[in-house]
Amino acid sequence: MEKKSQEGLTVKKEENFSEWYTQLIEKAELADIRYNVKGFIVFQPWSVFSMEKMFSCMEKVLQRKGHSPYFFPTLIPESNLKKESSHLKGFNPEVFWVTQGGDDVLEEKLALRPTSETAFYQMFSIWIRSYKDLPFKTYQRANIFRCETKATRPFLRSREFHWIETHCVHASEKDAEKQVKEDMETTKEVLHDKFGLPFIFFERPSWDKFPGALKTFAADVLNPDGKVIQQPSTHMISPHFSKAFNIKFKDKDMQEKDAYLTCYGPAISRIFASVIIVHGDDKGLKFPWEIAPLQVVIVPIDKDDAKIKQKAEKLKEEIEKFASVKIDYTDKRPGEKFNYWEMKGVPIRIDLGLKDLKNKKITLFRRDLDKKEIVDEVKVIKEIEKISKEITKNLTEKADKLFQNKIKDAKNIKEINEIVKNEGIAKCEFCSMEKEGEKCAEIIEKETGAQVRGTRLDEKQKPKGKCAICGKKAEHIVYIARAY
Ligand SMILES: [Zn+2]
Repeated sequence: MEKKSQEGLTVKKEENFSEWYTQLIEKAELADIRYNVKGFIVFQPWSVFSMEKMFSCMEKVLQRKGHSPYFFPTLIPESNLKKESSHLKGFNPEVFWVTQGGDDVLEEKLALRPTSETAFYQMFSIWIRSYKDLPFKTYQRANIFRCETKATRPFLRSREFHWIETHCVHASEKDAEKQVKEDMETTKEVLHDKFGLPFIFFERPSWDKFPGALKTFAADVLNPDGKVIQQPSTHMISPHFSKAFNIKFKDKDMQEKDAYLTCYGPAISRIFASVIIVHGDDKGLKFPWEIAPLQVVIVPIDKDDAKIKQKAEKLKEEIEKFASVKIDYTDKRPGEKFNYWEMKGVPIRIDLGLKDLKNKKITLFRRDLDKKEIVDEVKVIKEIEKISKEITKNLTEKADKLFQNKIKDAKNIKEINEIVKNEGIAKCEFCSMEKEGEKCAEIIEKETGAQVRGTRLDEKQKPKGKCAICGKKAEHIVYIARAY
């Protein structure tokens, strides 16, 4: 067994977010950063249990929408990566290369996949023949390797991470666009409705696209320190790719045509970071019901009493039918156990004491509201089922409200600076998302440390005035935030 840290968190989330995050990772035993390869960490059971559930939520939705699972090789030949120049240029600085097998130098360098477009596309060119094969929708869960040069942070940025990548082939640009919209809906269905994460989907400016993409759309989640974290992005891939990899199909009119490609990459280990950051508090973790590593814990307060033990076992048996449950028989004092499970974010705790038992009552503690409820013994299972349905909703509503209050309008660089300094997202009118706008974005970044994250597809406002930076006619409403 791993050594359990008895001590709770010693800093407040609002006061020192960075230290809070570091302590939470260590004390709740989510990851061990002491592995002896720089930038690589060990994911521990409490995070893996949850991430397994997150994978499963996401894969269920993808399969329902027609994606089929694959396991592709981890190694990609250099020649594949070289086929599309902007893609190589974008990823090359971060690629880990395998150059030897035993003592023998390999004929061709092999990349540890930094992403798998060029692996999938190699096979698509063999598999895709006719419009009847399309749309061709795939995905895989995989670990990805990137030699990050920026400082690493557990779950947020490390040199190996765990994700799902989807790769799809379409017959037309319109179908590719439809896929991108579907990916955005999937993000809402899973990240918001199941994991309780508020986000905005942005179309990224032309200077901030995925290497080799025609258009990039990405979801930004906000941290309490005002920085946004990029979560899933979905891309319409440039036609250069299908040309470079020779992905063609015979259309209904018997003409041979280049296929359209899309990809989508929900990084589960990074989304896990947002889950603990958005929902966690000064006591520790809080989990949405479906992705909690453990859903119910039973704490027998008089643990050596036979009646209590019997009751605990019986409750466990009944709860097991619909939730994961565990009895805490450890030698710690009840108070220590309470703190420990609250820090671990278990949604429901049952405190079993002799006095309650005599009165045919049971005490439940719910972590979503940090509240105790005393219920009749006979109603306890029904009550747990009821609470289990409320937990995700409560966490989501709280997170949504916080997020909405962080978005504020700005008219000039001074106001933008004021808003991002106060941990918000600034919204302003802007000249251009093409090359001409990049200069204004650079001024913003230089003076405020924040970036133009993009435009919203569902933007209700229309630009009426001038760009907040250069004063030229505004063509867009953009959102500006500091980012990880
Ligand atoms: Zn401008």
